[in-house]
This record gives sequence, C-alpha cells and structure tokens, in this order.
Amino acid sequence: MRVTTALNRLLQLEGVNVREVEIGDDVVVVTVALRRRKLACPECGHTSRARYDTRPVVSSWRHLRLGAHRLVIRAWLRRLRCPDHGVRVEGVPFARPGSRFTFDFEALVAWSATKMDKTALCSLVSIDWDTVGRICERVVADELDPARLDGLFNVGVDEVSWKKHHNYLTLAVNHDSGKVVWGAEGKNAKTLDGFFDELGDARSGQIEAVSMDMGLAFRKSAGEHAPQATICFDPFHVVAVATAALNTVRRDIWQQLRALPDPDFAAKFKGARWALLKNPTDLTDRQAVTLKAIKANGGAMWRAYQRKEELRAIFAGNDLTDDEVAQLLDRWCSRVQRSRLGPFVKAGRTIRAHRDGILAAIRLGLSNGRVEGLNRRVRLIVRRAFGFYSAKAALALVMLSCGPIKLTLPWQNRT
Ligand SMILES: [Zn+2]
Repeated sequence: MRVTTALNRLLQLEGVNVREVEIGDDVVVVTVALRRRKLACPECGHTSRARYDTRPVVSSWRHLRLGAHRLVIRAWLRRLRCPDHGVRVEGVPFARPGSRFTFDFEALVAWSATKMDKTALCSLVSIDWDTVGRICERVVADELDPARLDGLFNVGVDEVSWKKHHNYLTLAVNHDSGKVVWGAEGKNAKTLDGFFDELGDARSGQIEAVSMDMGLAFRKSAGEHAPQATICFDPFHVVAVATAALNTVRRDIWQQLRALPDPDFAAKFKGARWALLKNPTDLTDRQAVTLKAIKANGGAMWRAYQRKEELRAIFAGNDLTDDEVAQLLDRWCSRVQRSRLGPFVKAGRTIRAHRDGILAAIRLGLSNGRVEGLNRRVRLIVRRAFGFYSAKAALALVMLSCGPIKLTLPWQNRT
C-alpha cells in the first residue's frame, strides 16, 4: 500500500485525499486536497462550481495525535460567493466552520471536559482552557437534542453562581428526564422570561409544575407565562434557609467571643463553621469533635444546630406521608417562633409563608434525591468552568455534562 493511501485510511478524514506528509520532531503535517470539486458555503451548505479565488494562505487544523506526535492537517482552500453570505472560504467536511480543529479532535475535547479537570484536560490535548470553552460551545450548538424543550411537564428552575462576584446562570431542568434543558446568564425574572419566550405559549401552557427557590423573581416570571402551573419550592432551598440562619447565629456568637479577652476561645469557634453547616454524616473526625464540644457547651449555638437538623430530617427520607410532612413542618415553624433565636424566628416566618409550595413539591415528588444529585453535579461543573472567559462557555460545559446530548469518543460508533 502506498503511504498516502495508508494515511487516508488511518486518518479517517471525510472527503479528502492525502497529498503530502512531513514528519518533524514532534509534529506530523499532512497536506490534503478536498475530493469534491464543488465549493460549499460553510454557513448554509450552498454549493457552487464557480470559484471566487484561492485563499492566499494555507488553512490548518489540529487532529488527534499520531502516536506522540501532534498531527496537523493542511489544505489550500478556495473561496466562493454565496448569494446569502457573500464571499466565504469554502467549508470542509471534517471540521466545523471557523474551527481550527477536526470533528474528531473536538469530540475528544468535549467528552473529556465532562470528565476531567482543567489542568488534566489542557495537558492531555495541549490547548488552553479558553479554547476548550470555544470547542464546548461549538459541540453543544451542533449536538444538543433539538427536541429538548418539547414535552416539558415538570420543570425545575434554579440559579447557580458562576465566578465569584455576582455572576449567575439560570438553569431549567426537566424533572422527568433529569436533564438540564435550558440556561442563560442572569438570575432575575427577565432571565427566566427568556426561557418561556423560547418555549412559546403552547409549550408553556402544558407545564404542570415549576419548582424553584423562595425568591420572588422566578415566581413572577412563571406566574405570568405559565399561570396554570403549580409553584413548588424545593426542600433543598428550604433547608438552605435554615442553614443560613444557623450561620448567622454562629457568626453573631463568634463576634461576641472575639470581644472576650481569651482569643483562643474565639479561634476554636471559627473552625466550627463546617462542623455546624455540613450534614453530620459528612463530617471529618476533627469536625465531629468540634461538634461534640459545641453540644457539651449547649446554649444558643447548639439549639440552632438542632433546629437546622430537625428541618433537614423532615425532608431527608421518603418514609413520611404528605400529611406527616405537613404536620412536622408546622410543628417546626411553631417551635422556632418560640426559640429566641432571631435568625430562626425569621426563617420560620419565611417557611410558613411558603408552606403550600413546599408541600406541593413533596406531593408531586419534585423533591427527590435525583434533583439534589443533579444540583450537586451542576455546581461541580460550574466550579470547573470558573476559568472560562464567558458565561456562554460555562453554560456550554453545563449542557455538555448535564444536558440532553450524547457524547462519543471519535473511535466509538465508527462504521
Ligand atoms: Zn451561505
């Protein structure tokens, strides 16, 4: 077999013939020619026999490595005049328009981005993180299930902070499939309006329930666009209200202690933050010891901790009937009203005001562990996306990892 024929088969690049191969110390450069004579617009696929001119510089794309060598594909491309898009460089069958990477290379990057962290991925494929972000965007635009907004009946909406300083993404989840189906930058009513606009009246009209946090923004938007839907408040967010109250109690106490002459005592309590806020089963040994000390001390901090844990326990299992949950929740609200713990009195009021929506979430089964699991996964992915240059790239990574999309490695599903 001739070397060029062998390389044609080895590279598996669609629609090209290998013309020339140069092997350097760490890079192999393969020059190819497109098999097709006609020129195709990269935007719309419009084909033409008429060439406008030939691009004066050679185009190149990164392909999967060949052994330890980087592999670069080169081709001289022509330009055509598309009636809709003007003069464009012709599209190629083995890469997305505007990309400097082949389909196979982008498939490897997209698949890996959902599985490994920034440092590992960047050294594996030798590209920078922003380039990974742009590849994620292109793959999502191409591969996301176009029917993802059809047949939505139970929807969850949530905000997640992207980057440290008040950058947020709003995400919509299909509760029935457990997939993130929509996302946008921002976290107010207008942001969510964008979701309903994309759905349109007919699809918004068939939504039966929307779960959310206890803020006003999402409720306003859902109430306007899907007034028939039951508003539910995720127990996940309800517990978060009590956790925030506990944190306020802890901080107040710590501030008081800091004013005391013995600085060691205050320092001890500073480390108490995670011991108090984490679930007891997730504590490290040291945190468990701290928690024990807080218990022995008793007082406001321990009482606050107990209230938080009681609330969490109400939603933790699925062994309670709807009525039992309602009863326990009411009892909890009354108890914190008398607790003399200011932040908890306030939390109890908030929760009581949202009682119907909280119980609706339980009744409709929108409070299950899968939602919390997805929530945790989304947050993990978003943290990985912190280094991206744009919210769009962060969103693309979320959709790649948690959306309705099937990612395959280049060597899977080869025919
Ligand atoms: Zn065109």
